[in-house]
Amino acid sequence: MTAAPTFTQVAPGTWTATANIWTSLTTAVISPDGACLLVDPGISVAELDALAQEAAERGWRVTAGFSTHPHWDHVLWHAAWDGPRWATAEAVESQERTRDADVAKAAATTPGHDPALFGRLTALPPEADEIPWDGPQAVVVRHRAHAPGHAALVLPHAATLLAGDMLSDLEIPLLDTDAADPLGDYWAALDTLERAAADHRVNTVIPGHGHVGDSAELARRIAADRRYLDALEQGREPDDDRLRTPWLAEEHRAHLARLRR
Ligand SMILES: [Zn+2]
Repeated sequence: MTAAPTFTQVAPGTWTATANIWTSLTTAVISPDGACLLVDPGISVAELDALAQEAAERGWRVTAGFSTHPHWDHVLWHAAWDGPRWATAEAVESQERTRDADVAKAAATTPGHDPALFGRLTALPPEADEIPWDGPQAVVVRHRAHAPGHAALVLPHAATLLAGDMLSDLEIPLLDTDAADPLGDYWAALDTLERAAADHRVNTVIPGHGHVGDSAELARRIAADRRYLDALEQGREPDDDRLRTPWLAEEHRAHLARLRR
């Protein structure tokens, strides 16, 4: 029996819960009236049931969602939750293209998700620079790395950056190997995130997988990710503890193969 995730407050009005697989973080942004924006909720059906029950017990009403990017573990949902599930237009297009394969991947890893709820995303208008909802401001920080249409959120009131599948303490930078310039995209994305964090004096970073960090940890992760990219670019073997995880060592080999193309 694995433990059900429970929400912990990590910043003002900002709560996270950790799933059993891949140290995946669900984030809830709560407005003073109890309206809730859920970001990348997951992962198993039992975990989503537990999160839905806890949210209801806390008096939270889920009125909006956000998927940072179109990978299957970021487009899950629960029948108890309402509202549009926002994502960038590029993420929505990508999700529609890979939907069948993604439903199959989800079923293989965590069976039982209702396909009717899977990946039902709504595209943000191209000019939207924040999530259209009634709660605290959530600024959309678009960039092109890891997956098509990836976007982070900054919560200015909480000085918090929700980084999606970027800036993890556990995962190396995972490139979008289908992109024309995966490495260039990743360098640019780190600059974009660093700038957004500075503009909003961010002191809490929440990755999609891994642990919540403070501003020193945010700087450490940006530096570690740049060191990894630099080694990759220069053809050196990266000195990076995260590569001790076998599936990440595998991803690293895939990066090398992609860059030799
Ligand atoms: Zn991902």
